[in-house]
Amino acid sequence: MHDCGKILAFDRYRIGDREERLRILANGSFCRERLCPTCMKRNSAWQHVRLSKAVEHYLRANPLHQALLLTLTVRNMPVDQLRDWLGRLFKAFWKLMRYKRVKNAVPTWYRTTEITQNAETGDVHPHLHIVLFCPPEYFKRAKNLYITQPEWAAMFKRALQVDYTPVCDIRAMPGVGGGAPLDDLGRKSLFEACKYVCEPGMFFEDDDLEDFPLIELHDALHGRRLIGMSADLQRVMDEQSLPEDEPEAFIPENARLPEGAVLEGREIYHWQRGKTSADSRYVLVEFLPWRQPSASKEAVMTSTLPD
Ligand SMILES: [Zn+2]
Repeated sequence: MHDCGKILAFDRYRIGDREERLRILANGSFCRERLCPTCMKRNSAWQHVRLSKAVEHYLRANPLHQALLLTLTVRNMPVDQLRDWLGRLFKAFWKLMRYKRVKNAVPTWYRTTEITQNAETGDVHPHLHIVLFCPPEYFKRAKNLYITQPEWAAMFKRALQVDYTPVCDIRAMPGVGGGAPLDDLGRKSLFEACKYVCEPGMFFEDDDLEDFPLIELHDALHGRRLIGMSADLQRVMDEQSLPEDEPEAFIPENARLPEGAVLEGREIYHWQRGKTSADSRYVLVEFLPWRQPSASKEAVMTSTLPD
């Protein structure tokens, strides 16, 4: 994590006869650690792109289905209990989804894991966000498929085998389903289910990281599948070539180049540590000019970026 992003590559564009240049991040030496704030942001952006694409596809086949967001929680705990409790939480979730009542009502789902921390006590709060795709019959009284919030909580309590009623929340996801194709509002709703495993801000609350349980969190998450989904949704992901890890050259913001942008080449920057943090900065170490594929072709890039 310490070395994450110390090498960055940008594609440099000239726009008309303007003096300044446009730079778009093309690649970088990212560590891909789950708890790295930089990589978490990149990964979260990828999960959003990935889920949005899969849902678009799913809604084309099931236009009348409506998405609901179910949040399942357990009580706060000290960080050294997190690993065990994550295990219990996942197991309880599997049990819940296999209850006949649930299986009949919501065959399609997508699950993510989030861990927040209580700033005062330092206790952690793991919880699951689940996007449920419900057929129109789910909402019809006569079909007897609808599950109320207290029913969700009671079933989850049974699955989790605890003596208290865990906090559960269920709400509609505006813009996701119900007869209309996925729109910007729907994409925004889906982002709720693609948030980081931990809020990157958790790391920066204090100036020093001394009290931050990074190792404990790392150990608790090690080897855990934090994202899960029903088999049919997984099939859509596979068919659409949407892997769990973001592709090497994934660019979080879909870079839209302005009219007439001309690629000049790729710049490679290295992070150079100075005597003080004010002296530390990225230094341009290499420029690779873009060669036109053939003399007749104008190297005017519109939407695709070179490798
Ligand atoms: Zn990283």
